[in-house]
Amino acid sequence: MVSSFFLPAKKFIGRFTFPVKFFLTSMLLAIPLVMMGLQSALDAREQVAKARESHQGVRLLQTLQPLVIELETYRDLSVGARIGNQPEIEQLIRDSQARALELAAALTRREATQKNQLFMLSARNLQESIEHMSVSTGSEGDIEKALFEKADSQVAMAYQLVSQVANEYGLVTDRDVMASQIAILLTRDFQLFMRTLGEARAYGLSFLSSQMLGSQGINLLNTTLEGLYSLDQQIEQRLSLMFTTHQELNQSDISGEVVVGSLAQVARTVEDRVLLAADLDTPWSEYWAETSASIQQLNQFRAQLLDFLAEHNRRREQRVSSGQLVFAASVIAIMSLFIYLFAGFYLSVRESLGRLSRAAIEVAHGGLDKKITVDSQDELNELARLFDSMRLQLKDRQERLLELSITDGLTGIRNRKYFNGALQQHAEQFSQNRQDFTLLLLDIDHFKKVNDRFGHQAGDLCLQRVASTLEKHVVFPEDILARYGGEEFAILLPATHHEAAGVVAEKLCASIRNLRIEYLDQFIPVTVSIGLACASKISDFSDEAIVRLADNALYQAKAGGRNRWVSAHLD
Ligand code: GH3
Ligand code: MG
Ligand code: MG
Repeated sequence: MVSSFFLPAKKFIGRFTFPVKFFLTSMLLAIPLVMMGLQSALDAREQVAKARESHQGVRLLQTLQPLVIELETYRDLSVGARIGNQPEIEQLIRDSQARALELAAALTRREATQKNQLFMLSARNLQESIEHMSVSTGSEGDIEKALFEKADSQVAMAYQLVSQVANEYGLVTDRDVMASQIAILLTRDFQLFMRTLGEARAYGLSFLSSQMLGSQGINLLNTTLEGLYSLDQQIEQRLSLMFTTHQELNQSDISGEVVVGSLAQVARTVEDRVLLAADLDTPWSEYWAETSASIQQLNQFRAQLLDFLAEHNRRREQRVSSGQLVFAASVIAIMSLFIYLFAGFYLSVRESLGRLSRAAIEVAHGGLDKKITVDSQDELNELARLFDSMRLQLKDRQERLLELSITDGLTGIRNRKYFNGALQQHAEQFSQNRQDFTLLLLDIDHFKKVNDRFGHQAGDLCLQRVASTLEKHVVFPEDILARYGGEEFAILLPATHHEAAGVVAEKLCASIRNLRIEYLDQFIPVTVSIGLACASKISDFSDEAIVRLADNALYQAKAGGRNRWVSAHLD
């Protein structure tokens, strides 16, 4: 069932070589993986770019911040000088204007780039506007508001520049919630916040410096302070929410309470020194210094928050780019590992198959001695094991066949074929390096009579007993005993001289003579005649010559009465 389901896949894959099989299947997995890897690499690049951009934006905000603060100071001061004849305030205003101008000019001196064209244009407009800032005077009760609005227009321009930066550098739309919340707080909320605070402070300054506070002024102050208190509550909620939600912010040394405290401090000063002080006896400079101190704390908070944001973005950029690096490194590592293992797989399969095919060729050519192995622990190893056991079986069968082909079927000793080979070999060795040997030819005497008298089975038994008796006396491993023909045997004694061979022949004759072969309760008497020839004694040596000589000697032994041995070299 399952295998029939996979049949088409099996057929398809079966058409390819091993490397192609593996390559095909692994590519199906590797391609989507690589695509995903690339996609996330691109994502990470984008994130790094985004973090870098946010970082740049915050740096720009940091340079804008002093200008914003200076213009806020200018605005608040400018209301205080409305009745004229306040040379000290006017001096403060001029100083403030000069500082603002310098800060704006520094902005316009920045290097122009493709990205900051709009920014530069706005900065130049602001610079021009600051140059033309002037303080009007008047005496109507509600002139303060108008003066404040007028001076606030430059502040608004500066905040516009701030918003422009925040938008362009994606600070308010940042996917990082905390970063976007801080950006919104600093660029939008603080504008309204500082404006309301500035109003209270500026009107207070105006009434103190002019020493005049009518009912209209009281109304104006009351409304402004009311706005300030409600704003105080809003900002308190906002900040506490922000500080509790964002752990990183909470753990920093910035405290949101400073904002609420400073704001309350300014409101209290305005109330105590102006609104509730009927004779307005606080010197305006003292009042200005007191409110400035509170506002200074606020400005410090703003600067701290910007620094915090800058550091946060810097760390974010670092984190994302090191994450990108780790990702790239792991992708490279995984791909390298994949390629490495793939190569290992290919080489292993190729080597195993190569070894198996070479072994098959060798076995086909009869080489059965070398063990077949592969250098792996897999299915091919199992195949090699089976293949090797097949080789051993073949070898065993071949050895047995070989043994059969050189063994005499009746007596179990070597046959004529084997003997011929051995004789030829010794003859060659003798021709080459005179390694002496002696040949003995044995013939059972009157064997025909044995057959005639006792039957062929008895004859066969005699042949077997004679053979085993001869075997017992031909003891050296190099000695060769073979059945030469019907009732004839041949013995080749290497490194043996004819005299020593004579001793052997004598012993053989005696032992056969003394054999007691019993067949059907009858004893069969058996004797042998032996002809002996020694290689070193032959003048014109050849294998045929030595056989001929031994045969002649055997003939002489027969003629001499049988049951004896004759050496071709003895008289
Ligand atoms: P001689 O002493 O002159 O050698 O006489 P012989 O009878 O031994 O010699 P001959 O050559 O006349 O006879 C050899 C006999 O050996 C003939 C044959 O029947 C017998 N013979 C040969 N091979 C076998 C065999 O394998 N088994 C049996 N039973 N007899 C065999
Ligand atoms: Mg014979
Ligand atoms: Mg015979």
